[in-house]
Amino acid sequence: MPEISSNKPYRIGRSKTGLGLFATKKIKKGTKIIRYFGPMLDSKNKKHDDIDNKYLFEINNRWTIDGSVRKNIARYINHACRPNAESDVNSRKRKVVIRAIKTIQPGEEINYDYGTDYFKIFLKPIGCKCDHCEKKRAKKRAEARAEKLRLKLKAEKKAAKKALKVGRKADKSVKKAVKAVKATAVSKRKTVLAGAKTGVKANPHARGTGKPTKTKSARTRPLSQLVQAQNAGRAKQA
Ligand SMILES: [Zn+2]
Repeated sequence: MPEISSNKPYRIGRSKTGLGLFATKKIKKGTKIIRYFGPMLDSKNKKHDDIDNKYLFEINNRWTIDGSVRKNIARYINHACRPNAESDVNSRKRKVVIRAIKTIQPGEEINYDYGTDYFKIFLKPIGCKCDHCEKKRAKKRAEARAEKLRLKLKAEKKAAKKALKVGRKADKSVKKAVKAVKATAVSKRKTVLAGAKTGVKANPHARGTGKPTKTKSARTRPLSQLVQAQNAGRAKQA
């Protein structure tokens, strides 16, 4: 890793996508952070035109900076769709500097927008890993999860409703069965009662005629009279 003098406001560090450039001091908005530099490649030069690496910085139709050289610390700066810095190109001087477009706090990663062409060719196919895009993806995932949960709850509610309906139906049939058993018991009791009514012995109310019976009146006669009557009968026979 290239050495960076301690008075510079940045250091190379671990980033989500490998290495990146991080602020070590507060960098005020508008401040030049670092120069993007390297050999100038001329598109009119056949040899130059054949050079290909991912650190090529096109200044205009003719000139391109080959930023792959070790001393070009700016090549560590990663792309971001919502960056805190920008590449400031001076086409006439063929000079590129990276400038803060927001105040950058110590520890924050420095990044700039690589541009639409780079994004389309290199980042879109693998998915941009910048904070903004990660957040967007996380939001989409959260939304998808919420939707899944909603559908699951809906299905559960439907199932519960169905179960309740089945339960109610079962309840109805149980009630019906209980009612039928009760009805049978009532009719049996009615039959028993009806049988008791026809049998004199079984029904205590059947005796109530209001008049004394012969048996009862005989029993109310004094015993001496009964004996006399019996004796008289015997005397007639003799
Ligand atoms: Zn992005």
